[in-house]
Amino acid sequence: MLGQMMQVPLLVSSQIEFAARYHAPVDIVSRGVEGELRRSTWGRTASRARQLANALTRLGVRQGDRVATIAWNTDRHLEIYFAVSSMGAVLHTINPRLPLDQLRYIVDHAEDSALFFDTTFTKLAQFLSQQATPVRHYVAMTDAAHLPDTGIAGLVDYEGFIAGESESFDWPRLDENTASSLCYTSGTAGFPKGVLYSHRSTVLHSYAIALPDALGFSARDTMLPVVPMFHVNAWGVPYAAACVGARLALPGPGLDPPNLVDLIEREKVTCLLGVPTVWHALLAHLQATGKKLTTVKKAGIGGAAVPPRMIQAFESHGVQVLHAWGMTEMSPVGTVNWLLPRHDALSDDEKLALKCKQGRPIYGIDVRIVDDENQVLPHDGKATGHLQVRGWWVVDRYFKRDSDDARHGEWFDTGDIASIDPDSYVQITDRAKDLIKSGGEWISSIDLENAAMSHPAVAQAAAIGVAHPKWQERPLLVVVKAPGKDVTADELQAFLATKIVKWWLPDAVEFVEALPIGPTGKVLKRQLRETFAGYVLEDPPTSTPA
Ligand code: AMP
Repeated sequence: MLGQMMQVPLLVSSQIEFAARYHAPVDIVSRGVEGELRRSTWGRTASRARQLANALTRLGVRQGDRVATIAWNTDRHLEIYFAVSSMGAVLHTINPRLPLDQLRYIVDHAEDSALFFDTTFTKLAQFLSQQATPVRHYVAMTDAAHLPDTGIAGLVDYEGFIAGESESFDWPRLDENTASSLCYTSGTAGFPKGVLYSHRSTVLHSYAIALPDALGFSARDTMLPVVPMFHVNAWGVPYAAACVGARLALPGPGLDPPNLVDLIEREKVTCLLGVPTVWHALLAHLQATGKKLTTVKKAGIGGAAVPPRMIQAFESHGVQVLHAWGMTEMSPVGTVNWLLPRHDALSDDEKLALKCKQGRPIYGIDVRIVDDENQVLPHDGKATGHLQVRGWWVVDRYFKRDSDDARHGEWFDTGDIASIDPDSYVQITDRAKDLIKSGGEWISSIDLENAAMSHPAVAQAAAIGVAHPKWQERPLLVVVKAPGKDVTADELQAFLATKIVKWWLPDAVEFVEALPIGPTGKVLKRQLRETFAGYVLEDPPTSTPA
């Protein structure tokens, strides 16, 4: 017997219309590319999104067409998000930090018909306009007064493009499985792969991440997504914010710590979202200036492991860290770390150790670990294996690729190596391709890095495997010192010996000015391995796998 409830499709248009109807006056504050602070509202965002949909229709953009953006987190980008998907076209957000050959590749692969760009990225737009790409229309996300002289044929300014258009648009009643947006993975070997999200997956993911034991969003929040809208749809925050009617403070290009702190304090931000690299810089700035975060309650941090010292530093500002894990292929959120009631009795150190794990699955995501033969491993907190997931917002197959290269039956292989404890806390120990395998045993580079970063003189650390005649590989630790602090390799080794098992101790420590950071804020291990290829270990190690 079938239920007899309404069949209303899950559509992105329902999110912006809900925000417009029930949270119309709520602010969207945005730092613009010209440095100005602009103020909009959910009501105005919806009206302008409808104007934009009319303008795009006039231009000939039809359902299913791909519309690309190369843009910061701003009010205009938010309007494009809702307009493009709601009208049934597909929003393709492009990461401007990609190398040019990859940029060119994904524009071709996605068959983008129009490109919106912030004037910061004019050179990228010019580059594309000089190639034979499918892009027919270019829109600079600015007004006529700031339209750059580009030589791009037919270039229009955003404000002029939507001016005079009607603020009404009948959003189509699409099949909820219609594609809504497209993001390409980055940092992988070879060319990026496209992940094509649907309206249904986007709406379900929005519900799930807003739940109290996920990222816990509400109409009482002012959210600052530093995570870019060009990286996995800013973790789905724009959509979830519309569903709960949260205030948004969008940082635009102002990602340096003074600008962020100014925006946080001025707009009384309650919730931060971003990768650890951003917060390293912000926390160092706070420490150097003696400034405090006075309004922030929580920080959703993911994309890379959150070191314990970062959790402590945020807590000293009264900020709860929500350590989250996910990936482009998962829209992206899979797990979020909240302690359970029974953990209240743990000591501070025990709690900190637990908070360093990547958290428990949120409703809608199922996780398991398997060995190299795809045999399921126990959730005992000890066994480590390939982390696999399934759920409503997990990729089924990559865009325009026939082989399901990451699928194992119903499960998607994340490429991460993890353990899962009896309470279902997932702990990522490595990327499969970054594993350090010494004498047949795995060394967790994340544990090694976290241990190093708990030393006060270490700002950042990355562990990579270097070839070794006896143990195949041994860890090399590459370290960036904290500003104004000093430590020697021997001192660091002695410190690490108190934190990790002996055979995990790095065979060498190298100090560098900076680590190579990839387009999404992660340390580029591949590049580090290339830099240190052929590295010769001076002292043959005496330590052996246990
Ligand atoms: P991306 O698709 O660019 O978002 O990258 C996803 C990958 O980032 C994951 O597969 C993990 O390897 C890594 N990652 C994301 N969040 C975390 C985290 N909290 N701890 C460790 N690694 C993470």
